[in-house]
This record gives sequence, C-alpha cells and structure tokens, in this order.
Amino acid sequence: MKNVFTLFILLSMFSSCGAQEKAKENDLAILQNETSSRPKLVVGIVVDQMRYDYLTRFESKFGEGGFKRMINEGFNCKNNHFNYVPTYTGPGHASVYTGTTPKYHGIISNNWYDKDIKESVYCAQDDNVESVGTTSKAGKMSPNRMLTTSVADENRLFTQMRGKTIGIAIKDRGAILPAGHTANAAYWFHGKDEGVWITSTFYRDDLPQWVRDFNASNTAESYLKTWNTYYPIENYIESGNDLNNFESGFKGKSTATFPYDLAVLKSENGGFDILKATAYGNSLTVDFALAAIQGESLGKDEDTDILTVSFSSTDYVGHNFGVNSKEIEDTYIRLDKDLERFFNYLDENIGEGEYTVFLTADHGAVNVPAYLQSVKIPAGYLDYNDRKERFQKFLLEKYGTVDIVENVSNNQLFFNKEKLKELGLDIHEVEQALVDEQISYPNIAKVYTATTMSSTNYTTGIEALLQNGFNQKRSGDVIIVDDIAHIAYGKTGSTHGSGLNYDTHVPLLFFGKGIKHGQTYEKTVIPDIAPTISALLGISFPNGATGQPLGFVID
Ligand code: ZN
Ligand code: ZN
Ligand code: ZN
Repeated sequence: MKNVFTLFILLSMFSSCGAQEKAKENDLAILQNETSSRPKLVVGIVVDQMRYDYLTRFESKFGEGGFKRMINEGFNCKNNHFNYVPTYTGPGHASVYTGTTPKYHGIISNNWYDKDIKESVYCAQDDNVESVGTTSKAGKMSPNRMLTTSVADENRLFTQMRGKTIGIAIKDRGAILPAGHTANAAYWFHGKDEGVWITSTFYRDDLPQWVRDFNASNTAESYLKTWNTYYPIENYIESGNDLNNFESGFKGKSTATFPYDLAVLKSENGGFDILKATAYGNSLTVDFALAAIQGESLGKDEDTDILTVSFSSTDYVGHNFGVNSKEIEDTYIRLDKDLERFFNYLDENIGEGEYTVFLTADHGAVNVPAYLQSVKIPAGYLDYNDRKERFQKFLLEKYGTVDIVENVSNNQLFFNKEKLKELGLDIHEVEQALVDEQISYPNIAKVYTATTMSSTNYTTGIEALLQNGFNQKRSGDVIIVDDIAHIAYGKTGSTHGSGLNYDTHVPLLFFGKGIKHGQTYEKTVIPDIAPTISALLGISFPNGATGQPLGFVID
C-alpha cells in the first residue's frame, strides 16, 4: 500500500513536471511570438532641408511607390515642427534620434565656440580617432559631443547588442549623430578625387569587405554623367524659371540651367564632391544603403536592427539653387524614385509588413530673400560686418576694450569672463547693457540674456524655441534673433537656421509594421519621433528624451 502510494505520488509529480514543461514551452512560444511582433528592421530617413510643402507642392509629380506610398499606407503628421533654434543639420539629426533638443543633447549647432578650450569645434569632430578608408582627415569623427543616447543606442542596450545599428549619409554628421554611441558603424561619403564611403576608428579598424567592394565598384563614378530633368522641363510648373537671378550654380557653367554635364564640371567643383550637390548624391546613398542591408544581413533575425539613412544632397541643392528652383523640383522627383526603389528592395529582402520606416527632415529652408523681395514680401540680407563695426565702437566707448566679448557666433555673444573680472564688471549688468545696445541695430528683432534663458520657463513663442536650443554649459551669454526672412548669405541660393515656420515645418511620415493608416493636423514636434519608435519597439526612451510617443500612429 505504501509503495503504491509512493508510486502514485511519483507518477503525479512526473506528470505535473511534464505539464510544467509543456506550459513553459507554450509560454516560450508566446514570448517568441511577441518578439516577432516587433519589426525586423527600422529604417529612419532624414531628408536634409526638406520643407513640409515639398510633399504637397510636388505631389502631382510623385509616383505611387515613394512618398505617396508612405502617405497612402502609413501615417502623415502634417503639422510637424522643430521646437528649438537653431535649425541646422547637426542639431536636427541629433534631435530626431535622441528625442530631445540641444538644451539636453548638447549639439547646439554644426560648429560652435567651445568656452572651455576657447576655440571653435565641429559637432562630429573627434581628434582622438583616426580615418578608416581614406588617408585624409575626413574620418576623424564620432558622436563624442552628443550627451544623450539615440533610439538606436536604446535598441542596442535592449537587445544585448544583438540588434545592429548602421548609419549612412553623405554628410558625416548625418550618419554619425543618428546612429548614436553604440553603432556597429556609421559611413559617410568622401568626395574630392577619391569618391569613397569611409568611417572612423571609433567604430572599426578597417572597412568591411562589402564596403570595400562597393568602393571598388565605381558606382560613384557612374553618376558623373549629365544631370538633366527627369521629365521634360516644361512640365515643371511647380517651380520658377530655370534661368533667373536667384541661383548660384556650378563653377565652369555661366548659367544655373539644365543640363549639367558633371563629367566636365567635376574638375572645377571638387571632383566627386560635385555629386553631393546633385540629385545623384541621393541615388548613390540608396545604392550604398541597399549594399549595407545585404552586407550586414539587416532585418534577418528576431532582434530589431536600425538603419539610419540621411539624404544630404537635397540640402546642397537647396543652398545652391533655392526653394523655388527647377533643380530642387527635379531633385525631389528623383528622390521619390529612389525611395520607391528602396522600399521595393525592403519588400523583397525583409518582407512587406516586416519593417517600419519613418521619414522627416533636419530643418526646412527660407525662400531666397532676393526672390521674396522681387514679389514684395519683406525679406533681406544681414550685414554682419556693419554690425561688428558698430558693436566694437560701442564696447570701446563704454568699457575701453573690445576684449570683454571673446567670440560672436551662431547669433550669440560669448563673454571673456576673466576680462570681466579683471575690469570689476558685473556680468548681469554687462549682459543687459549689450542687450540694450544690440536691439537698436537694424534687422535684429529680439535679444535675450543667458540669465533670462536659465531663470525663466518659457512655454510658447520664439522664447520657448530659444530656450530649447539653449545649453547652459555650451551656449553664449547674449542671444540674438534676426528679422523674419533675413539671412546672412549670398544673394543667390538660400539657407536655414531660424525658428520660423519655413525652417521648422517639416514632413513626418511613418509606415510599415505597427503603424496605423491616417493623418493629423495636430501639432507634433521633432523630439516626439524617437519616443514613438521606442514605444513601437517596447524599449526604453532615449535617456534625455523630452518628446512624447505619438500613440495615434501606433497600431
Ligand atoms: Zn541639414
Ligand atoms: Zn536653374
Ligand atoms: Zn543646410
């Protein structure tokens, strides 16, 4: 009896063990299913200098497989803005991927005056690393000045570094800042007489075979051909005349008009660098991105990989020819074709519905002020030399020296604190005196002190944008805001940097796995993007994120 009882207990233990094993197996299957509900690949796309209205202005020229596919299948945030000043490439890319603003991520401009070492630094510059793939110094770059994590970093931490990150752009900062601190690699294009994709020892000591193969393939060279309009130019009714007074063009060609023979023009325009400033730079970027997907086996396992791609050529074309040019229209028509080719490749190689894409910009751009003036819209050019002369005269008269201000850059004045101390001057009094002086100058609309920026909490208006762009450790002591549509630039071509709608309003499109179909006019801001991708992946927000996940885009 005792033995039978023991046997019964043993049997029941055995079978309950079996049931437990079964339950564990079921749990594991459910867990694995949950993991696979994440996209295999997230592709982040930043189109450098893409204004929101390029989506709508050129809509009738777009095909079904590019921008319009994202709109028709995905979610379109139509009122998406940058929420800080200055709207430049470095801060833009950092903000998209870190989910915050220069106040926290520290990329306050492309180049800025470093108060500690008292010299100008570049946002991606790193003197402690070496170039890989070129003997030039173009590879001495890393994200070392970015103070917070990117969404790609958080994905790396979450997946125990199994989920890969690759960053790609023609511009180094467009590749490096999005990919973050833990990227497997970032690659950017070195033009001149080399025409190759390079990286830095921050990521790896040599180029992987697939990059060497790509560089040896002469793909870059194949684009040194004639750039003509994709469709007959008379159909380009969404832009101004090809021949006008508002475009810079290329050296070696007297007019900024199609066609451009790049094989001929390259010698006077930096060799392979000329590709950067044409629509073909974007095609080359897609070619390289597709090679990266294959070479790195992205999107092939259960751990989500992140590929960040930035199209830099749109910015070079915009600076050269302006918002209203035939060249910019053709560049977007061709980018639309390149996106279609990109998405088709993802369908075939990752699988339709297995990947997620978002697309935005790093800033917009203002119409060429000379063009705006020609149609009677208030606009103009800033004379910094004039400003400087007047300011130095003021400093000399009031303080007996110009040395109390040691640097003027990015619309900020940086004080020489030692000099102020030496002269026994009170910093707050000097701040206010310089504000009162600067505001009397032509085309200066507003002036603020660093003290105001750090002690007042602004929630609306240009003040809030300035504050989001103000980093107490890195920014200057007096901050200047110029008049609307006034730029310090040549009379041809255009630029960006302000907190006005033409610079802040940019596209935000999501499509693919986990994304709803829809659209909104509700205001969204650039720092919302990274938390939204984090929420989609179920991973931590970037550590300095201030944006909110856009719940309405997630399925
Ligand atoms: Zn840019
Ligand atoms: Zn033109
Ligand atoms: Zn630019």
